[in-house]
Amino acid sequence: MSRETILGIPASLGVGVGRSFVVPRPGRALRRHVSDREAEVERLRKAIEEGREEIERARDALVGESEVSLVLDAQLLLHSDAMLADAAYQLIRESGVGAEWAVEQTVETLSAPLRASTARYFRERAEDVAHVGRHLLRHLRGDGELTLPTSREVVLFAADLSPAEAARVFAESGLIGVVLEAGSATSHTALLARALEVPAVVGARGALDRVLSGDEVVVDGIRGRVLIGPDEEERQSADDRAGRYRAFARGLLERRAEPVATKDGVEITVRANLELPEEIELAQTHGARGVGLYRTEFLLLHRGAAPDEGAQVALYREVTEEMAPAPVVFRIFDLGGDKLPPGQRLTRGPNPAMGLRAMRLLRRRPELLRTQVRALLRAASAGDLRVMFPMIAGLADLREAKAFVRQCADELESEGVEHRVPPLGCMVEVPAAALRVSRLAAETDFLSVGTNDLVQYTLAADRTDPEVAEVASPLDPAVLTLLGQIARGAEGTALSMCGDMASDPLALPLVLGLGYRSLSVAVGSLPLVLEVVRQLDLGELEKLAAEACDADDAQAVAALVRERCGEPLGQLWREVDA
Ligand code: PEP
Ligand code: MG
Repeated sequence: MSRETILGIPASLGVGVGRSFVVPRPGRALRRHVSDREAEVERLRKAIEEGREEIERARDALVGESEVSLVLDAQLLLHSDAMLADAAYQLIRESGVGAEWAVEQTVETLSAPLRASTARYFRERAEDVAHVGRHLLRHLRGDGELTLPTSREVVLFAADLSPAEAARVFAESGLIGVVLEAGSATSHTALLARALEVPAVVGARGALDRVLSGDEVVVDGIRGRVLIGPDEEERQSADDRAGRYRAFARGLLERRAEPVATKDGVEITVRANLELPEEIELAQTHGARGVGLYRTEFLLLHRGAAPDEGAQVALYREVTEEMAPAPVVFRIFDLGGDKLPPGQRLTRGPNPAMGLRAMRLLRRRPELLRTQVRALLRAASAGDLRVMFPMIAGLADLREAKAFVRQCADELESEGVEHRVPPLGCMVEVPAAALRVSRLAAETDFLSVGTNDLVQYTLAADRTDPEVAEVASPLDPAVLTLLGQIARGAEGTALSMCGDMASDPLALPLVLGLGYRSLSVAVGSLPLVLEVVRQLDLGELEKLAAEACDADDAQAVAALVRERCGEPLGQLWREVDA
């Protein structure tokens, strides 16, 4: 076992094995007073100039990498932008503070309102401003340019990197992986890592506290995992995958626009599960045919409070327009259970997964539901927007939710506000709903199976408890039998599966064999799922699924799938250690 395992966000496909090189976290600037204010302004002017020259050099060295050049051009513009520089000069002149402090304050003042925006464009600009600030601070401190040790294969660990730094060091031949504490899968640094094909894990909180420069490390940009001090077996396995994965991933991405059909020609619709608007671009480049599940509760989990109605309308519109003409299924806030905003417990109960969660919780907080439903109805004209209710247990729940939507539509009508009632569907993730699915199907426009919860409730195994992780297997014959019943019971109504079972390459043959033709999976899993689908022959899978439902237990099912599908899928399974 490795000494430490750190989980983060997979940001750039690939696996790297090497020695860590840790860039220390930048300290906060001290507030100090300067006696010669004009000399301090001059010092800052010089740092800005040096910073600009560094970006220009990085850009010139990267001819042909158009994506990277664009990012660097944006940074150059900001460096030349009078707003940032002038505000900092003014602060120095008026308050007599040091340039570092002036830069930090100016960056905070400029980026805070951008960061708070619901529009992705503005949040990204906040990140740009922060990067320029950090870049300037490095030059002010005289730290100079970041240089990697040249003697060996290096995995870079840093709190964050500016695009200029990233563009320069990612292109160095000795760099074989990157781990950042900051960032998201769509941050600029992640984009640069992908463009320059460096395996990367971002959002790896606390990574700098757990690694020392010179440690042997594995960075797994496929699973978003970092191993510090791997054992011999882990290192060997990582080495093997590192070599194979680059060619594999490139091949998959090249095929993303090709039709998604099984070997015998049955088309399968594969959409993306999203949590944040930042993921849209990745969903598109990874070949998603729409969004099958947008977990809107992340709007609250991220900020601690729901955006107001206007901000929600803007966000739902933006996502829908970006994915148009493909559909986007927004799921009503699924709060409760393990999904609660930090520091804001909306509910307390002995067993949160079985207590006030989702629609049950919103019944007690109608203002939260009302704001969201009104926003969704107002945004519905932006494209193929659809609305899905979580944790529906039966007809009463469904009818109540639909009546609430009707009531919001009437309100908007009487207020003269433009709106549309979109297609309405519900999750099938409570066994009670699964057992009566035909009745739900008769009263909905679409259904989507949430296997994460369906497995937990069917097998009485908490999805958040690692002690029962083995028990909570989607391959359990009881789960498979229920999934088969759902597929038959829902006939005539659009049915999809958005639980993680759909992205498990070992479970996917069974999902298809049980009759599911529409899937929605995590963005990072898209290329793999598309490829699994293309390798399978549906004709054989129905028989396989029937046998699996009859098997003794999950282990027997796994063995059966390995035996029957090893031929087309063995190589793919090995790539992801399934
Ligand atoms: C599920 O339960 O399978 C699902 C997709 O919803 P969540 O994981 O958000 O509970
Ligand atoms: Mg669920």
